[in-house]
Amino acid sequence: MARTALVTGGSRGIGAAISKALKADGYTVAATYAGNDEAAAKFTDVTGIKTYKWNVADYDESKAGIAQVEADLGPIDIVVANAGITRDAPFHKMTPQQWKEVIDTNLTGVFNTVHPVWPGMRERGFGRVVVISSVNGQKGQFAQTNYAATKAGDLGIVRSLAQEGAAKGITANAVCPGYIATEMVMAVPEKVREAIIGMIPAGRLGEPEEIARCVAFLVSDDASFINGSTISANGGQFFS
Ligand code: NDP
Repeated sequence: MARTALVTGGSRGIGAAISKALKADGYTVAATYAGNDEAAAKFTDVTGIKTYKWNVADYDESKAGIAQVEADLGPIDIVVANAGITRDAPFHKMTPQQWKEVIDTNLTGVFNTVHPVWPGMRERGFGRVVVISSVNGQKGQFAQTNYAATKAGDLGIVRSLAQEGAAKGITANAVCPGYIATEMVMAVPEKVREAIIGMIPAGRLGEPEEIARCVAFLVSDDASFINGSTISANGGQFFS
């Protein structure tokens, strides 16, 4: 039977490319989203991938949503914690609200996504966890203390999960994308985007599919001994 994969924030941007790549590799895929019903409906029309709406920042919603996915599609073997947001501001102007929203979505959201599926993975003796971190979690970034803290935290999460899950056939790894051409980056003012591109040795933004291929590899049987690792995919911008 095909393995089942859950991709949070899987209806747009990088997550949509991941959902499509996993479907193409033969997995049964569930993609979640937060509130953009129109984009999710269009995504399902085009791909045939079922979408589910819940807020990853809310544990009870996540738990209930995951139970629904498992009732519809079977036990979740693969979880890709991809949903994420930015609320950028220089530290001296950052509000507690901006800090909290990013921590709740990007960091606690990973706990809320992985924790409900973890016991089933342990029982079945198989699991793949991939968390989408960021180059800015590796190197820090002006106006992103909140975001960088969550993305650095993701690396701590997978390195710890790797040690807890290895004996149970579970791997946990992170992908750190550089700047990728999605709505998140296109929302940055053009002048700033041009400056960013100037710092990327490849001379261009990455494509969502280039991140999706990293994820597809990490969840495959070929990656069975890779655990607690980070794949950096950033066009040569930063080495780690
Ligand atoms: P997008 O903004 O294009 O898409 C974000 C997705 O996450 C959407 O599906 C959105 O749902 C969903 N989402 C956001 N908040 C929540 C929430 N609270 N609960 C559930 N779903 C939520 O983002 P990207 O594709 O650009 O980014 C995807 C991941 O990759 C993020 O974790 C981001 O930090 C990371 N990343 C992105 C980079 C980039 O350059 N783009 C670089 C490095 C890392 P909805 O459609 O309903 O809004």
